[in-house]
Amino acid sequence: MSAATTRSRTPDRLCAEAVDLARAAAEEAAAPGVVGEHEGLVSEGDRVVTHYFAAKELGYRGWRWAVTVARASRAKIVTVDEAVLLPGPDALLAPEWVPWSERLRPGDMGPGDLLPTDAEDLRLEPGWTGEDEPPPNSVVSHEMADLVEAEDAEVTAGPPAELSTTPARGTIAAVAEELGLRRARVLSRYGLHVAADRWEDAFGPKTAMAQAAPATCASCGFLARIGGSLGQAFGVCANEFAPADGRVVSLAYGCGGHSEAAVMPKTPQPAPPVIDETRIDPFPLRPASDSGSVPVAEDEASADLGHS
Ligand code: SF4
Repeated sequence: MSAATTRSRTPDRLCAEAVDLARAAAEEAAAPGVVGEHEGLVSEGDRVVTHYFAAKELGYRGWRWAVTVARASRAKIVTVDEAVLLPGPDALLAPEWVPWSERLRPGDMGPGDLLPTDAEDLRLEPGWTGEDEPPPNSVVSHEMADLVEAEDAEVTAGPPAELSTTPARGTIAAVAEELGLRRARVLSRYGLHVAADRWEDAFGPKTAMAQAAPATCASCGFLARIGGSLGQAFGVCANEFAPADGRVVSLAYGCGGHSEAAVMPKTPQPAPPVIDETRIDPFPLRPASDSGSVPVAEDEASADLGHS
């Protein structure tokens, strides 16, 4: 007969009655006042019983203090095996542990933080390492490169000493440099796609701003073009008043700040004053009186004074 079949599912009476002993053990293990009501017991085997008490600690909703008590065969004394805090069936549990690299979200990095990139990161692939040798008959072979250098020597100054890392013209390194591939790793096709999708979600043709725009970024004077394959679909907005200033925008995006969207109305200029020098306008010296007398012109007044 196996050991499992010999175990009794009926709790041992003396162990089941040792509630106070179990509570004392739980209170000794827990902080004072956090052991709650007795919530039941379970027979763990012959003369082994676990008592459960509600845990009243904050943040441990549904957890229980479990105290296992036992006694030896033919012994009358019950002793404590262990006291632990265990989650109940409806316990509030922490979410499953997730590695930090999967928990990281855009914007989490702060100054001084380092973000290691996985060697197998799908967004990257090897760049041009310089280990590949050109075939002997290649137009970019070392011999051809030397020839090009010799031809250029008369008209082109050599690179300054501090720029010795600049590849010589005609070499594979020079071509790789021009294409932006002369790095340990470059964006993979997958990396390009996910970046393009992300940028298009933020500043693409389906956004509300683009839908209401008078024209697209492709025709906007504030668009700064970018190189590489992404330059065929994206650029950088350089309009400080636009919502996408300094951001990568789809060429099909657009906003009301489009350089040709509206023409600024010109401020109306007042007409220049007209000076008529061919005639003299008489002006009264004194304002007309209320008696209804006619204003007297300056020359007429002078004439009157001469007659008196
Ligand atoms: S101002 Fe508007 S339309 Fe012009 S590049 Fe920037 S986002 Fe595009």
